[in-house]
Amino acid sequence: MLYYYLVCPRKLWYFANGITLEQDNELVEIGRVIDKQTFAKEDKHIEIDAVINIDFIKSKKEIYEVKKSRAIEEASIWQIKYYLYYLKERGVTGLSGVINYPLLKKKERITLTADDEQMLDDMLVDIRRIVTDTKPPELTTKKICNACAYYDLCYL
Ligand code: SF4
Repeated sequence: MLYYYLVCPRKLWYFANGITLEQDNELVEIGRVIDKQTFAKEDKHIEIDAVINIDFIKSKKEIYEVKKSRAIEEASIWQIKYYLYYLKERGVTGLSGVINYPLLKKKERITLTADDEQMLDDMLVDIRRIVTDTKPPELTTKKICNACAYYDLCYL
């Protein structure tokens, strides 16, 4: 939800209210293929409390998130910061994060600061407000709209 919140609050509202159209989206399918074909030896998709779902964890206390592109990089960074925050709140400390972009052969290290934690607290309050609203946030056109699974719902 945090990822969707940063990508588009309207998308967050759709998702949180049970409207899921992403299964048939071509870009989502590309993500699934990358997921299957990379890091095959790792134990993947570690779900914790049915709240966070970490792509995989390395022995050096690194949690990994695999992304196909840097197109929505800020949301990806906050997603992994949230994983670190969530685990820290439950007493799991000393972790860092890595976002891996297999198609770009790049990776980026992510850490969690005290300022990040404060910002995450504020974001969670805002997310709760959005998902419990009776209607989605106003439509604001974004660069990603053309590739979004919810395009028809927003524009037709
Ligand atoms: S089409 Fe655009 S406004 Fe609608 S949910 Fe997707 S990103 Fe958000």
